[in-house]
Amino acid sequence: MKPTKQVRIGSLSIGGGNPIAIQSMINIPLTETKQAIEQILRLEESGCEIIRATVPNDACADKLPEVISHIHIPLVADIHFDYRLAIRAVQSGVSKLRINPGNIGGKDRVREVVACLKEYGIPVRIGVNAGSLEKEILAKYGHPTIDAIIESARSSIGQFNEFGYDNLVISIKSSDVVTTYQANKRFAELYDYPLHLGVTEAGAQLSGVVRSSVGIGALLLDGIGDTIRVSLTGDPVQEVIAAKEILTACDLRNEGIRIISCPTCGRCKTDLLSIVTQIKEHTSDIKTPLVVAVMGCGVNGPGEAREADLGIACGDGNGVLFKKGEIVATVPSEEIVDVLLAEINLLTS
Ligand code: SF4
Repeated sequence: MKPTKQVRIGSLSIGGGNPIAIQSMINIPLTETKQAIEQILRLEESGCEIIRATVPNDACADKLPEVISHIHIPLVADIHFDYRLAIRAVQSGVSKLRINPGNIGGKDRVREVVACLKEYGIPVRIGVNAGSLEKEILAKYGHPTIDAIIESARSSIGQFNEFGYDNLVISIKSSDVVTTYQANKRFAELYDYPLHLGVTEAGAQLSGVVRSSVGIGALLLDGIGDTIRVSLTGDPVQEVIAAKEILTACDLRNEGIRIISCPTCGRCKTDLLSIVTQIKEHTSDIKTPLVVAVMGCGVNGPGEAREADLGIACGDGNGVLFKKGEIVATVPSEEIVDVLLAEINLLTS
């Protein structure tokens, strides 16, 4: 990966060669404190390493200490418009701020926020969003071009640097995948601040996952990116699952069960999707890396999945269990899921 500065966020560090951290954002207000904490704990369990929450008012800021005391991953406060809330959040123990200096209310206020960040040793993420560039920059370029986005980033970084503050993470997001890719590429050529990657307003379900995977994945394969957030409409746990899949696909994480399964064809005589779903559900807690193949037939299955550590090929009435492409047992179809799960447990315990 491209070398970047290391930035400490609570108990973990990003940049500087550290593993790429997965983050997400809760979609429950902090004022619904019990539910918000429960959602964060669920996200932690699914593999989320940094969590962000919006702090739009004092009522939410009041809840920060309670929430922080119940969770085990760093909390980032997302602040817009009100510099006093930024200061309150830092004083309440958040591990990072996410602000946009353009909407925090002028130089004096940025100076006050910086003084507080310095006192508490807390980093800040500057979020540059193509959809909300400064009016002057938009007027100069006409629309959010790559040059316009980079100028906005330069101006925001300058405001912090002017007060001697360098503990920064940058994100450059657009809802347009190609713009996100090109702007981050350009930024990485110019600066060595760690980059938080994401495609904003990516959408829901499949289209959201595809858009995020293309934008984030392309950058990661170019060696760019220090932390990622997949933005999806819906349960944020899905964001974390998608982020893990992206990192695994880019060979940047090697943990847990990776299931490869065939698309099925006319040879398949079984409900392969239901088998894959069952295997996924029963192995989601395993951390040991293992490639497991779930194939629709014995004619091509073991051969097609030769690279897997372990696998099954389903048949009509019977299926086979194979290891590294070699068949080791023939199993009645109704037992095949249990047999595979037992083998997985044996190899990972
Ligand atoms: Fe078809 Fe068998 Fe290949 Fe699956 S493994 S795609 S069922 S030939």
